[in-house]
Amino acid sequence: MLDMNEILKKVGITRELPQWASNYCYEHIPGYVLPEEPTEAEISAAQEKFRVQMMLVEGNEVCPRCACDNETKRLEDEASERYKRSSEHEKYNTLEKQSVFQDETIMDATFENYVLDANQHEARVHLQKVLQALEEYKQGRQFNLWLVGNVGVGKSHLSMSVLKELRSLSTSCVFIDVDEMFRRMFHAMYKDQESPYTEAYFIELATKVDFLILDDLGAETGNINTDKGASDFKSRVLRAIVNGRQNKSTIFTTNLTSKQIISMYDAKLADRMLKNARAINYVDTLSYRTKNNMF
Ligand SMILES: [Zn+2]
Repeated sequence: MLDMNEILKKVGITRELPQWASNYCYEHIPGYVLPEEPTEAEISAAQEKFRVQMMLVEGNEVCPRCACDNETKRLEDEASERYKRSSEHEKYNTLEKQSVFQDETIMDATFENYVLDANQHEARVHLQKVLQALEEYKQGRQFNLWLVGNVGVGKSHLSMSVLKELRSLSTSCVFIDVDEMFRRMFHAMYKDQESPYTEAYFIELATKVDFLILDDLGAETGNINTDKGASDFKSRVLRAIVNGRQNKSTIFTTNLTSKQIISMYDAKLADRMLKNARAINYVDTLSYRTKNNMF
């Protein structure tokens, strides 16, 4: 039983005790008291037993228990609303706060500033495919999307643009440059014990978000033209991420072919990454870099 003074304090009445009213509130029968199908007699007996005497507060009859319950509920609702707002805010901010780049300007990428020349036919067709995938993500479909092609054709730009559109739907999104992720992990392992960027940090981040971009997969293995595969450590981390995202969509960008992916990573990992996936393959699109070096 709550102390009456506590109740009154809780509902903001701190001056001298109000007077008792003559009426009772009959709303407070504990759940365990009545049988499953109570008779009217049983109900009224319980009501008499657990009635709460009302009080006179500024001329009104008030049940102190009801006032207290309402106040508790109001505070709970307020707290849960606050929590909801802050967790939505946090989700929205994941992209800015926790993405991992080598080139920070990628954060500015949107569909609006993805500019194509009139003669970039392939890129134009592929843009439609990306927008189609975005639409399906918005509808809740789950699949992995691969953007494949040489450096500079705009894969990272487009994938970031997708995340920008998705995060307004109260989804958490993060963009991870794979090579940079491993660089930070090694730094945390060997150089800076204080660094937050541990293996566990990245695995947790990459598995918990609704949408993940793993940007430039394969760059972390060094020269792709050698037969050098990913190290056991890198494979293990990627496997943990991919296994943790089996019911979530991941966007990969890479300049590897699927054959190279299979030879570079262990079969199970490659299988998981390529399962339930669609690929958009840039074959003819010139990189921005090449365009600028044409003369
Ligand atoms: Zn009451």
